[in-house]
Amino acid sequence: MAFWNKEIETMPREELEKLQLKLLRAKLREMYDKSPFIHEKMRSVNLLPEDVDSFDKFRQVPFMKKTDLRDNYPDKLFVRPYDELVRVHVSSGTTGKPTVVGYTQGDLDNWTESLARGMTSFGMGKKDMLQNFHGYGLFTGGLGVHYGAERIGATVLPIGTGNTARQIQLMQDLPVTTWAGTPSYMFHIADVCDQQGIDIQRDTKVRLAIAGGEPWSESMRKKLQDRTGVRVHNCYGASEFYGPMFLECEKQNGLHIWADLCYMEILDKNGDPCADGERGEIVVTMLQKEAFPLIRYKIGDISALDWEPCECGRTHPRLMRISGRTDDMLVVRGVNVFPSQIEAVIGEMPFLSPFYRITLENENYMDSMMVEVEMNEESLTEDMVQLNRMTSQLASRMKEILNIKADVRLVLPGTLERFEGKGKHVVDNRKYD
Ligand SMILES: [Zn+2]
Repeated sequence: MAFWNKEIETMPREELEKLQLKLLRAKLREMYDKSPFIHEKMRSVNLLPEDVDSFDKFRQVPFMKKTDLRDNYPDKLFVRPYDELVRVHVSSGTTGKPTVVGYTQGDLDNWTESLARGMTSFGMGKKDMLQNFHGYGLFTGGLGVHYGAERIGATVLPIGTGNTARQIQLMQDLPVTTWAGTPSYMFHIADVCDQQGIDIQRDTKVRLAIAGGEPWSESMRKKLQDRTGVRVHNCYGASEFYGPMFLECEKQNGLHIWADLCYMEILDKNGDPCADGERGEIVVTMLQKEAFPLIRYKIGDISALDWEPCECGRTHPRLMRISGRTDDMLVVRGVNVFPSQIEAVIGEMPFLSPFYRITLENENYMDSMMVEVEMNEESLTEDMVQLNRMTSQLASRMKEILNIKADVRLVLPGTLERFEGKGKHVVDNRKYD
């Protein structure tokens, strides 16, 4: 079995935890000095970096939340000047303010190292050609996976999203062995191949895939594998970490969370650590991140961590499938969408009332989003031409803010059901089994 960095990947748990604590203390010391934000958080609980001599003690450090990123937009959390940065990525955040993440060369190296280990762990190598369906650009998926594959000596076809006909043509013409993208797009590829009479096993060399960027399930994996004959490996990450960075090995039994790069806690409702294998909220501390510190960050996902060594020989803990979220964030076609962003757009339009409903469907695992908004009483007197104009104005503004297309409909005042409290604006009919 191949390893990318065998010494680290098979280090006994006890040694790994020693290393984690050492890196944790060093990172806290550095951030206490360099980051006014972390300094203030630690001061607020009278904690000095030197006091943190155990993971228990570390739990006294207050959490970092998505709202902290918003409040420090765009770059107030960076601890390195732009001179030392080599890249910036931007992703959707709450209430229309995106999240901006800066990277030093060291950050890019660690991100790439993480993916190189993961790709090697499911059998990818020099002989492989990766067709990367992930979007290149501000989204971290494209470039992240790209550099990981190049690091292990694989050949990358940086095709990006869309243009399914060309995707399918090239995967037949070139020796593509591996896909990377969202699972829903892989289902779409399978559909189009069926329509065109293309048998992926007979007509292409594709045998492996990396799928992530949106919620999906074990039964979706089984269906996708049965339909395509491709072994599909789960991938997890977030732009706040670096990007997509953790992968499943060939055993497909959880994501290997590299403990020398990431200290991951799973906490119950009271903030106490969950037992091995028990589900709770994921809290992430990046141990070697340089430009943009991430200390006890609540990413909003729910899952469990298992420290039982994997059959593949790797000793780092494994993260089980994400089973939900703690906030109202939705992932639609791989894009983070917050109902608060939609509220903000509605608030800009003088002809709308604040009542809206988001309906999500996923036929063949391809997400669609419909947004219904009530007009206000004044706009009832408008003619059809004007109403159409209002609808398209709302739709284009929505696309601009959310980065995905929604089916936008204006409805009459009083049509939508009224609910008390938040979080009732979403009807999610998507199924992942
Ligand atoms: Zn493994």
